[in-house]
Amino acid sequence: MAKTIAVTNQKGGVGKTTTSVNLGASLSALGKKVLLVDIDPQGNTTSGVGINKADVAYCIYDIIINDVHPKDAIMDTNLPNLKIIPATIQLAGAEIELVPTISREVRLKKSLQLVKDRFDYILIDCPPSLGMLTVNSLTAADSVIIPIQCEYYALEGLSQLLNTVRLVQKHLNTGLQIEGVLLTMFDARTNLGIQVIEEVKKYFQQKVYQTIIPRNVRLSEAPSHGQSIITYDPRSKGAEVYMELAKEVVSYE
Ligand code: ADP
Ligand code: MG
Repeated sequence: MAKTIAVTNQKGGVGKTTTSVNLGASLSALGKKVLLVDIDPQGNTTSGVGINKADVAYCIYDIIINDVHPKDAIMDTNLPNLKIIPATIQLAGAEIELVPTISREVRLKKSLQLVKDRFDYILIDCPPSLGMLTVNSLTAADSVIIPIQCEYYALEGLSQLLNTVRLVQKHLNTGLQIEGVLLTMFDARTNLGIQVIEEVKKYFQQKVYQTIIPRNVRLSEAPSHGQSIITYDPRSKGAEVYMELAKEVVSYE
């Protein structure tokens, strides 16, 4: 049965999508069967693994709103152990359409249960908000990875996120855990990055991954080639650190 991990932070641009794609690819390189679930209407994970949106027959919207079976939406990537349920801009309507829907918070959970036995990991790339799509993701997940960018105001908004996690734990998913906190886009040339690391470690203590993701230009280039770093530039620093992170994630199995 897959371990389902939601990669979440309502701030945009902190590295959720970069982490979903590259952690997913790295886990698959370790021989794990991985399903990426793109639940952000921007669909950056989808294009990041080389999927042309015009080729998408069914996206995550059809699964959540139209009860399409998830197996009909799963698509291949250029890595044999890495599959994806894509998102298209159609998903933008789901936030509102879900509001009057029966069992609106558990729709993703119920769907993913149908394919959980086929994978070792399911990684859900969340949108930058704490709306219905994120609540569905937290309800479907066993745990969350919270990427935090090593920047000013790194901790801003985190109490809101943790409050949402607690509400989901209380009402929808008592087993939900914090898998880990990931420091991203670290720049060793600035003192600021080091200060942020200290602050985040004080706050989250042993939940912070030892692997810290540095700024790496290859990581930012890979999506425009529709590839994870594992195939785009396997010898880059970016590939090295996401492989390290994957090993750390596997060590907590
Ligand atoms: P989110 O999904 O949280 O909005 P992204 O993963 O899309 O964040 O990252 C935001 C931007 O920063 C993207 O352009 C991405 O390519 C870039 N980026 C993310 N992580 C790194 C990194 N470690 N080094 C360099 N660029 C990065
Ligand atoms: Mg994103």
